[in-house]
Amino acid sequence: MPKKDHYVIIGNGPAGNKAADVLRENDRNARITILSDEHFSFYYRHKLCDFMSGVIDEDTLKVKFYKEYKEKNIRLRLGQRVEKIDPDSKTLFLKHMEKLRYTKLILAVGSAPRVLPSLLRYKDYFTFMSNYNDAANVKSMLENIKNPIVIGGDLIGINFIKMLSRLKKKATFFMYYKSFWPFDLDIKKADAIRLSLEKNNIKTISGDPVKTISRRDADYIIETESGREIEGDALFSFMGRIPNIQFIKGSGIDTERGILVNEYLQANYKDIYACGDCAQIYNLELKDYWISIGWENSILQGEVAAYNLLGEHRIIKPMSKKIFNVEGIKVKTSWWNQLKT
Ligand SMILES: Cc1cc2nc3c(=O)[nH]c(=O)nc-3n(C[C@H](O)[C@H](O)[C@H](O)COP(=O)(O)OP(=O)(O)OC[C@H]3O[C@@H](n4cnc5c(N)ncnc54)[C@H](O)[C@@H]3O)c2cc1C
Repeated sequence: MPKKDHYVIIGNGPAGNKAADVLRENDRNARITILSDEHFSFYYRHKLCDFMSGVIDEDTLKVKFYKEYKEKNIRLRLGQRVEKIDPDSKTLFLKHMEKLRYTKLILAVGSAPRVLPSLLRYKDYFTFMSNYNDAANVKSMLENIKNPIVIGGDLIGINFIKMLSRLKKKATFFMYYKSFWPFDLDIKKADAIRLSLEKNNIKTISGDPVKTISRRDADYIIETESGREIEGDALFSFMGRIPNIQFIKGSGIDTERGILVNEYLQANYKDIYACGDCAQIYNLELKDYWISIGWENSILQGEVAAYNLLGEHRIIKPMSKKIFNVEGIKVKTSWWNQLKT
């Protein structure tokens, strides 16, 4: 009897989950395993602010509960970090020294926080808010924080600082509008956003970048290019997101800014696909690669990757631009969806 296929998906976000569901619906027999280095089951990342501030509890944060995987005969392995991939022997090397074989692999490993090159040397000072662990950490810090500083050019950062303001924290926002993410702002729109935040009692600094960051006892001291000094008892960074591909480099799987895949989401090995935030996708019309970071686009890509892994030839196309409302200001973005919290 031929051995069963073992489809392994690295990543338990929207892309990985959609891919697993499509694989199961179309192949009742295969073994399907999802690996995630997080300990918390599939959750809504855009609701992390509400979770931190106590508006919703852990269960409301979850998209899917463990029993739903069991019902579909999908094996969910949480807290399992893949350290290395050997595509030639189709083996994954996990952090705890286990080797796991696959017949076909889907990489749905998402994105990580970006740090602007000019601020990279201060990376260790920053607190990030990217996943459940980070949110739980920030939740425990919130009670003691009085005057936090948020540095960023990022929509998640705006939501975060508004949450701090609702909690009556005296927050300062360093707005890097030139690298605002996931869209570019011109100075007029950036100014309108700044004014709106200031109406909410959020001190917003734009056009005066950070020159140095230092520590004074437990506090962070920021000196700006114009010589201003701002002091805060916590320092958060929100500067956009980049594909999470560090552990894939050197495996033989082609990467550049993300994991390089063709229009079918197939990598340079025929049994490996990549989807969601981690993928850098070739577009036949543009004759160039594109990356999309966003929830709904990740679901769409997870679906396409799974069907193609099963033998179809579905082409993924970039999503059309959307109009977004940020602080009452209309901006355009290609991938990000305005999700309800
Ligand atoms: C705070 C926040 C707010 C957001 N708000 C919005 C919004 O309003 N609208 C919107 O469209 N998008 C939003 N996003 C972006 C959206 O959440 C992502 O685009 C989406 O989650 C990407 O899905 P994904 O499946 O590609 O990856 P992810 O959801 O990032 O999942 C990646 C998975 O891979 C796992 N993983 C990574 N490396 C390894 C490894 N080596 N071994 C094992 N497992 C690994 C991770 O543990 C995780 O389970 C937000 C993101 C954040 C962080």
